[in-house]
Amino acid sequence: MSKNGFTTEILHSDRRTGCEFGAVHQPLHPSAEYAFADARELAAVFQGKPGFSYSRQGTPTTAALEKKLTHMEQGIGSVSFATGMAALSATFFTLLKAGDHLICSKYIFGNTNSLLGTLQGLGVEITLVDATDVEAVKQAKRSNTIMVFTETIANPGTQIADLEAIGEWCKTEGLLYVVDNTLSTPWLSPARLFGAGLAVNSLSKHIAGHGNALGGMVTDTGLFDWSRYPNISSAYQQGNAKGWGLTQIKKKGLRDMGGTLSSDAAHRVATGMETLPLRMAKACDNACQLAHYLAGHPSVTTVLYPGLSSHPQHRRATSLFNGRYGTLMGVELAADIDVFDFLNKLKVVVLSTHLGDTRSLTLPVAHTIYYEMGAEQRALMGIGDNLLRISIGIEDYADLEGDFAQALEA
Ligand SMILES: *Cc1c(COP(=O)(O)O)cnc(C)c1O
Repeated sequence: MSKNGFTTEILHSDRRTGCEFGAVHQPLHPSAEYAFADARELAAVFQGKPGFSYSRQGTPTTAALEKKLTHMEQGIGSVSFATGMAALSATFFTLLKAGDHLICSKYIFGNTNSLLGTLQGLGVEITLVDATDVEAVKQAKRSNTIMVFTETIANPGTQIADLEAIGEWCKTEGLLYVVDNTLSTPWLSPARLFGAGLAVNSLSKHIAGHGNALGGMVTDTGLFDWSRYPNISSAYQQGNAKGWGLTQIKKKGLRDMGGTLSSDAAHRVATGMETLPLRMAKACDNACQLAHYLAGHPSVTTVLYPGLSSHPQHRRATSLFNGRYGTLMGVELAADIDVFDFLNKLKVVVLSTHLGDTRSLTLPVAHTIYYEMGAEQRALMGIGDNLLRISIGIEDYADLEGDFAQALEA
């Protein structure tokens, strides 16, 4: 691993590899196939020598992006995918089989929850637990448990998993610990520091950051001993066991499901992520200030944000994320406010799904992302009709506060 800091390494890693004409970016390679002058070399690449053959399995442009993510996560290697969901699908489908047991946080992204349903249909056993408490995770263990999965900060409730304690327990038990680091990003903390064996990131959110590219990444932190994992195919048990897991995720994940990141999107993600620390610092500051403002507003019932001392995991967040609390909040408006009328009055904040954008975005949770599950399930989860999810961007703070103030007043 290089000794450079987080941002320096991202900014300079392309040109250090010797790009043509002194270019500071890796070229954007659209080629679908790679040609060989020597048939032995072609065979060698098929047999595992680093190189490129068919672009479903990667290109020099996606490889350059993978290198930067690996640095951010302090890992040993990464594989890129077309979206975060493609990265998660590849992880679960290539590493789990029927009869295996997965322990999973119950506070997870709705689309990931949908994916778990698909896995269950194929015979994977899943127990959903309150991952804010390591004891709940421990109690769920069965003889066939092989993986534990959680996100860092949940959406929209902002619950923070007991990340370090779960990591320590997984280490003791020899379980593969997979952490979706999308909401906090490797800048608030690499998932390796929680003890994760694999870190998954949706690049579509903060990492690309500008709402103009989709992508996903799986990074091996180097902490997990793959020689103890029951589901690695003998074809991938070659050489140092450190590489086995990622080789299987890459070979099988990209080949079987084909959710490959395009070079074009990889290039846009790579330029977006050059400013990740600057954008995160500003957006986290904006979010923290706005959360305090809204928490004191008479027309707001509840603000769910880890930066508020009232948040159940406030102290945990402070110690895990270096005094930053993320950019996402849940805000419940007073019952006498019509949520649609309120939203229609916003002028700066954009009515849109998505999060981790440079622009602040909001949507009414019950009527959109949690609509499909029905009113009964929402009531059980404490999702009221007036709950907004707000993803804060990098606008000038006064404009954000002013926008909420005028919409709440009117
Ligand atoms: C958005 C998101 C994903 C999926 O990422 P896409 O790039 O949209 O497929 C996965 N996990 C979390 C926590 C997310 O917020």
